Amino acid sequence: MADMHLTKAPDNKLVILDCDGVLYPTSQLTLQEIMDAFEKTRHQLGISEQECQEGSAKAKNAQHLGIFNRILHICRHVGLPEDIFFKRCVENIDYSRITPAPELLANIRRLADEFPVCVLTNNHAFHLARVLDARFGAYEKNFIIPNFEKRKHMRYGNNPIPCYDITSTANDNGWYQPKQSKKGLMRFLKARGVQPQNAVLLDDTPYLIELAQTKGLRAKLVSADHPLERRLIEVRAELTKEKIHG
Ligand SMILES: [Mg+2]
Repeated sequence: MADMHLTKAPDNKLVILDCDGVLYPTSQLTLQEIMDAFEKTRHQLGISEQECQEGSAKAKNAQHLGIFNRILHICRHVGLPEDIFFKRCVENIDYSRITPAPELLANIRRLADEFPVCVLTNNHAFHLARVLDARFGAYEKNFIIPNFEKRKHMRYGNNPIPCYDITSTANDNGWYQPKQSKKGLMRFLKARGVQPQNAVLLDDTPYLIELAQTKGLRAKLVSADHPLERRLIEVRAELTKEKIHG
């Protein structure tokens, strides 16, 4: 098999975790609450409904998918630095229902001790920082967090955000490449030098699972029936087996 050497190299494996609905269950923070926070932020910053529609139309015309590209277009349309929007936005989200999960962190660390683990989210870095803080109480140094790459000045608690992920992969010329976009996942893997068959995606969006599978990734749905804890154990067992047997 032509690509056998690739699957033999454990260093080239990569486990990709989604944030919302995977690092924490959506019952602790719903997508609707996040959307409501966007809407509230828009009001607070004085962005009108019409400006919102104009910005959204620009995003649509440019085929920049996803809510974050829409916000970027709206912010640029009204001349507002997007960080101001996103900073205000996380202030409008209630993270207090997200419960600490030390056991889960221990499981992630167990996997990350042997294989690279990253978090790849379509959500904003400011949001991810708040989730990690609420869930794990600390920035997890084993995580590779692509959406932080752009923000080397940003600090998470007392820890600097890692600088080793210099190439922004979720970012395309200033626009996001969300996971559902044509190039999103592949661009991310390419930048990390990981072959699709060596990547495992754990996500709670069935559509993304299917999409990843069509691109040749291994992808597993995280749901109430298949919680992340169990998926982590499964993935560790599979990857360990491959490492031993090649
Ligand atoms: Mg999700």
